[in-house]
Amino acid sequence: MWKPSVCTKDCPDTCGLLAKVEEGRITRVKGDPDHPFTRGFICRKAGYFPQHVHNEERILTPLLRCGPKGEGRFQPITWEEALDRVAARIKEVCAEHGPEAILPYLYAGHMGLVQRHAGHAFFHMLGASRLLATICGPAATAGFEATLGSGPSTDLESVVDSDFIIIWGSNTLTTNVHAWPFFGKAREKGARLAVIDPYRTRTAKKADLHLRPRPGTDAALALGLMQVLIQEGLIDRQFLADHTVGFAELARRAAEYPPEKAAAICGVPTHEIQGLAVAYGQARAPFIRTGWGPARQLRGAMALRTIACLPALVGAFQKPGGGITRSLGGGPANLTRLTRPDLCPKGTRAVNMVQLGDALTRLEAPPIKLLYNYMSNPAAVAPQSALVLEGLKREDLFLVVHELFMTDTALFADIILPGASSFEVNWN
Ligand code: SF4
Repeated sequence: MWKPSVCTKDCPDTCGLLAKVEEGRITRVKGDPDHPFTRGFICRKAGYFPQHVHNEERILTPLLRCGPKGEGRFQPITWEEALDRVAARIKEVCAEHGPEAILPYLYAGHMGLVQRHAGHAFFHMLGASRLLATICGPAATAGFEATLGSGPSTDLESVVDSDFIIIWGSNTLTTNVHAWPFFGKAREKGARLAVIDPYRTRTAKKADLHLRPRPGTDAALALGLMQVLIQEGLIDRQFLADHTVGFAELARRAAEYPPEKAAAICGVPTHEIQGLAVAYGQARAPFIRTGWGPARQLRGAMALRTIACLPALVGAFQKPGGGITRSLGGGPANLTRLTRPDLCPKGTRAVNMVQLGDALTRLEAPPIKLLYNYMSNPAAVAPQSALVLEGLKREDLFLVVHELFMTDTALFADIILPGASSFEVNWN
């Protein structure tokens, strides 16, 4: 029997999959030809899902630590005992130190929207310290939304009607491969492709233009482009008047970045900045595809915020094929019926997840006494890694870990609860 699913590898394509299930086991995975965006093509990674799901190293029973922290010695226990122990420790910590001594730690795991957000209500109700989920995309999201709001960005499939495409900070051909045919269709009809990327990636090699700014200078480049657009009269004043706020202030800021100055900051020749701006401003339907690259820096949110101003300057949003796409991800914008922030006591402290090391080793009043980790492996992925490991070794820290495999973090756990793969939670 073939069952429908999706690839959950935190890739923007989110391929539709068909999984062959025989006697309760997935024996093969292939692309779903009826999926409108990915159309039956998957990359090699998804083909290994059967080995992943049925791997002999999967954790299949709750485990209790029976050796020193981090040594990895555990004994199997029943679910009932495991849950009783966790509940008892939660009660003890709340009674002795208050609920803020408990910190849930999570990020995306297998990306399931329900699974990612299912624990929030419980920890809010408890009054546990709140986790600020700042790793990965939030800076880009904040910047983009500061300009364009929280609605969806331009449908990437509409790019087939664009005549000028900028890929800014994305190696699309390698990391968003299903978008490439849509760009190809536009190019068959005559569209030109510009890539902005410090590296000469596979994608950049296929472009008509390749601008290589120094890493971290994307905002200056965007301001330089804006200044050319404004000076050359290539902006859509009617669109700006009808649909935007703050143009006068933006124009003043852009005036501080003539192309020569932007060139000096970015390391991109002045004539390339001028050429790109003119091509973008004269296009019938200019389209920008941003990746995460410009946001992976200090002030990355401001870089995305600035880039996201460009389409409005030329009125791209009202031209079929024009616009800007940041993320292909979707989902309900409001998950509060699931996460229930209203249950969180007012004034409950927040811990920034990139400062987990500080939180585990230096935070006081109260210190973190119970770390509840799911959908993440902070011992391997969190910044401040030395401090994180130091904190995880604390004998007075009770660590609960939900996991499929014995990860670096799970090695330090007091209790491990077996986690489910995306296939096991998506099917009934
Ligand atoms: S391209 Fe590969 S990793 Fe990305 S969603 Fe498709 S199968 Fe998964």
